[in-house]
Amino acid sequence: MPELPQVQALVDFLAERAVGQVVAGVELGSISVLKTYDPPPQALLGAPIDAVRRHGKFLDLDCDGTHLVFHLARAGWLRWSEQVPATVIRPGKSPIALRVRLSDGSGFDLTEAGTKKSLAAYLVREVREVPGVARLGPDPLAPEFTRDVFGGLLAGRRTQIKGLLRDQEVIAGVGNAYSDEILHVARMSPFALAASLAEADVDRLYAALRDTLAGAVAAASGKPAAELKDAKRAGMRVHGRTGAACPECGDVVREVSFADSALQYCATCQTGGKPLADRRMSRLLK
Ligand SMILES: [Zn+2]
Repeated sequence: MPELPQVQALVDFLAERAVGQVVAGVELGSISVLKTYDPPPQALLGAPIDAVRRHGKFLDLDCDGTHLVFHLARAGWLRWSEQVPATVIRPGKSPIALRVRLSDGSGFDLTEAGTKKSLAAYLVREVREVPGVARLGPDPLAPEFTRDVFGGLLAGRRTQIKGLLRDQEVIAGVGNAYSDEILHVARMSPFALAASLAEADVDRLYAALRDTLAGAVAAASGKPAAELKDAKRAGMRVHGRTGAACPECGDVVREVSFADSALQYCATCQTGGKPLADRRMSRLLK
């Protein structure tokens, strides 16, 4: 799933190519991808694209005051074409969920692999009409997201820090991958409770959050949409690297698995050398 750095790179990529052009066509390959019905997709025809923005992990194309907002979710992606094929996509027959044609013949497809369809698009007059955008917490790279703002978000929350970092209503844009990375940089257990962190822990976690995301945005910036997924994977320290060596200490990267996800961490760097309990691992060892 693309997170803040990849979505920011997609926003920059699209802004460079689409702003100043006019929407020449919108086709739906899947009826269920569009979560709104008013205004209809035809409302975009002839509208100039004024800006492309990011809200958490949502992309927002401002088309003369009408916003096409979308979230790529788990298996969605954006595919850019300098020349979009003339053939009209047939609903239900392709992985293309939504196609946007621009005035110079270029355009993009939103595609979704797999069977669990969760890619979502919205056409709205105000971005905050999108429920997931209205509920977003602050953006961690915004100038006003200070150490004290971050400390305020953690205070009083008896929640594991890993889950809190991923909660879009607390902080916008961080998902499973970058929360693993941030916690590794901060040398902190994913199961530490937010409310019980010492001031020095909050300082370290705040620095890790900002540095990790800023570094990933810089690394992703300027890359074409097609290269972002591989670049994200290649830049990971522990996430998705179970069994590999920790780049800091050489210990093996371990994982804890859940019903539909897994987290990775280094016991030496993050949990005082003590591996975290993993129900699946203990079941396998019985
Ligand atoms: Zn380590």
